[in-house]
Amino acid sequence: MATRRKKKRGARRSGKKLGSVLVKPSGPDCNQSCAYCFYSGKQQMFDSGGPRRMPDDLLERLVRQALDAAGPEIAFCWQGGEPTLMGVEFFEHAVSLQQRHRGGYRVGNSLQTNGLALDRRWARFLAENRFLVGLSIDGPAHVHDRYRRRRSGAGTFARVSDRAKLLLDSGVEVNALAVVTDYSVDRAAEIYGVFKELGLRHMQFVPAVEPHPYDPTRLAPFSCPPEPYGAFLAQLFDLWLADFAGNEPTTSVRLFDSVLYSYVGLEPPECSLLAECGTYLVVEHDGSVFPCDFFVEPGWRLGDLRAERLADLLDSERQARFGAIKSALPLECRDCRWLRHCRGGCPKDRLVRGDGERANHLCAGLKVFFEHADKRLRGLAERWRATRPELAEDARRARLARSSDGSRKIGRNDPCPCGSGLKYKRCCMRSPAGH
Ligand code: SF4
Ligand code: SF4
Repeated sequence: MATRRKKKRGARRSGKKLGSVLVKPSGPDCNQSCAYCFYSGKQQMFDSGGPRRMPDDLLERLVRQALDAAGPEIAFCWQGGEPTLMGVEFFEHAVSLQQRHRGGYRVGNSLQTNGLALDRRWARFLAENRFLVGLSIDGPAHVHDRYRRRRSGAGTFARVSDRAKLLLDSGVEVNALAVVTDYSVDRAAEIYGVFKELGLRHMQFVPAVEPHPYDPTRLAPFSCPPEPYGAFLAQLFDLWLADFAGNEPTTSVRLFDSVLYSYVGLEPPECSLLAECGTYLVVEHDGSVFPCDFFVEPGWRLGDLRAERLADLLDSERQARFGAIKSALPLECRDCRWLRHCRGGCPKDRLVRGDGERANHLCAGLKVFFEHADKRLRGLAERWRATRPELAEDARRARLARSSDGSRKIGRNDPCPCGSGLKYKRCCMRSPAGH
């Protein structure tokens, strides 16, 4: 089986490998009603007249196709909407299909969830099958409940923090996914402290940048303002550094881990810090395929899993066009001193200004952060090179044989350059995609 798959891959044009696939088995359906949700608006796009659910035959096709398009390893990132609406049986079936079809390839899974539906059976399943869970939690109750509410209007913090404990007590790896909003942006220390108290040592912060629902020339009021975002990152960075035990961090903040990769000369796991997009695919419940979670739009539909191969869609001209959007940099990025590490940020945050130019809405904040952290990031990268001489030599060779974007992929058994002391495969590589 493995030999057959390798032959198919060899026949492809670019040889590009699918490292991760983001799957939305229940489409935009959700059991919560977050004020800032960018995906609930997709309900009309996938109007099925009933609940949106991925059928079993499509699931099997997805697993086989993803493995056919993969390199030696692939991560399935289950997301929504709310993917737990499928029930735990769906995921048991998915794992059994992965085992049946994987040949010699390594398969990882992550689940991004609001946590409401999780119970002991879920926790056991997630622990046994080594899922990394991205749990949506924005901070303490007054922060979390501001925008993350049930349809009834009731807050969800009590339930989510309780589910975080259940998962951690069951041995599940949990990554806190926090949206940074107009309200939470001034509360970095409080949020970081609450996550640590809950035992959530892996954290990812996603700034909300969404158009106003009635006036697309403005941003929605919950959006994260740029300068305060810079102060938020700077404060968080100081807290993260203060928690180092010797040379090793005791918490993981995905952006800082990723930026450190870039300082070391390696390819960062965070897609917003890469030179181009287009490294993964999104598969919706009905088999529609898109290039990115933030570009699930009719104009960016790559094709249909029922009719086409994921390998071909990954190699398609439209996917290449999507990837290139990021490298068409806004004017002010082109001679920015931070471009090497920032790469102009995520294209969805590039908005049209009054003068008609596109610019990254968060740019002023990103500059504040890099100014604040640059010297210490350089010091951390230096220490990393000194303590990992073999990898430093690899990085040196990679720099000499510099590829177009100057980065090199790290091996799964290499020590993770975030400094956690774990192998890369057990650390940042397992983080869910940057959403
Ligand atoms: S999230 Fe942003 S940076 Fe990442 S692939 Fe999508 S558009 Fe590109
Ligand atoms: S800091 Fe701003 S100008 Fe510089 S690369 Fe990033 S987004 Fe562009």
